[in-house]
Amino acid sequence: MGSDVFFIDMRASIKRTRLQKISDLMEKVKWDTPLPKKSLVAIKIHFGEKGNTSYIHPVYVRKIVDKVKSWNLKPFLTDANTLYVGSRANSVDHLVTAIENGFDYSVVGAPILIADGIRGASEEEIVINQEIYERVYIGTEIVNADAIVSLAHFKAHELSGFGGTIKNLGMGCASRRGKMAQHSEVSPKVNKKKCIGCGTCSLHCPANAIRVSDDDGKAVTFDDLCIGCGSCLVVCPQNALEIRWDTDGVKFQKKMVEYTMGVLKGKEGRCIYINFVTNITPECDCYHYSDVPIVNDVGILASNDPVAIDQAAYDLVNEQPGRTDSRLKKAHEPGANKFKALYPKIDPEVQLEYAEKLGLGTRKYNLIKVK
Ligand code: SF4
Ligand code: SF4
Repeated sequence: MGSDVFFIDMRASIKRTRLQKISDLMEKVKWDTPLPKKSLVAIKIHFGEKGNTSYIHPVYVRKIVDKVKSWNLKPFLTDANTLYVGSRANSVDHLVTAIENGFDYSVVGAPILIADGIRGASEEEIVINQEIYERVYIGTEIVNADAIVSLAHFKAHELSGFGGTIKNLGMGCASRRGKMAQHSEVSPKVNKKKCIGCGTCSLHCPANAIRVSDDDGKAVTFDDLCIGCGSCLVVCPQNALEIRWDTDGVKFQKKMVEYTMGVLKGKEGRCIYINFVTNITPECDCYHYSDVPIVNDVGILASNDPVAIDQAAYDLVNEQPGRTDSRLKKAHEPGANKFKALYPKIDPEVQLEYAEKLGLGTRKYNLIKVK
């Protein structure tokens, strides 16, 4: 038997607005066991990189915040800092970007807490004992929250084929060390042309794994000492430290799933998953732009099963006709796999298969349209 995935399309009328439909959708996935009054609920969202315009609209987010408040709970919006140098790599920049993208209290009605501290080092170690990881590193405020509402923008993704609920949780809730572990196997690489030998990285390194060499006056890393915390990446004033991106798509997705397991550990029965299958861009919202969507808006899904909701969103997108004015150059016919057409070297179903194998949910679902 499959899990229920509730669905609203994007139609609206004078009698029933999208905001009313979102409110109705939320009622379908309310926790079975009521949480104690005033429980703290983390609404995990991606605020969008500066310049990106395809992230979830803050007015929709306010409706979800209002609904959680109506259940006598205390919601806050959250995300963890990014690994790469951009407009969300530390909490100060992250908050400024979030507010400039519309996630101000006056709009969304909830405060923002960045989950992993000012430089991404505030984390909790969660023991999971799985194939790749014995333990994973999750942003402290996500772990501290009593419950989670995952608000994922479902779109194509250059590393995992697609990004939905599993990616929003597994990658999005990881601390800097956790993100580093998922993206790369080894220490950062020094770009010798950019390095000025200032030693700031060395001062911040908790493992003595990066030092300025007496030979050439440039930083040098030591793989055997590096714990992959990523601190040096954010403090270097020259952006001279680069991530050695892990190119193995299968392992990357499995790592992401194991991190999702860590995020959800201890919160069984206290999670709601929502996928906005809208603005389905060819790349993730970490880019400072948003390209034309590969298919038209499909709708919004909600479920208590993180695997079923991603499977349903994946199928719904593939059932659509592809947009010929987008980056999608083939697989335009309904039913053709849009994600494999965009990223032929990545099998996006790895994350679904592995998540089901680890018992996070089922790929079987009952799609129920909310009237
Ligand atoms: S902080 Fe950057 S510029 Fe300074 S020594 Fe380290 S790598 Fe070089
Ligand atoms: S990633 Fe962390 S442990 Fe590794 S060199 Fe950089 S600061 Fe040091």
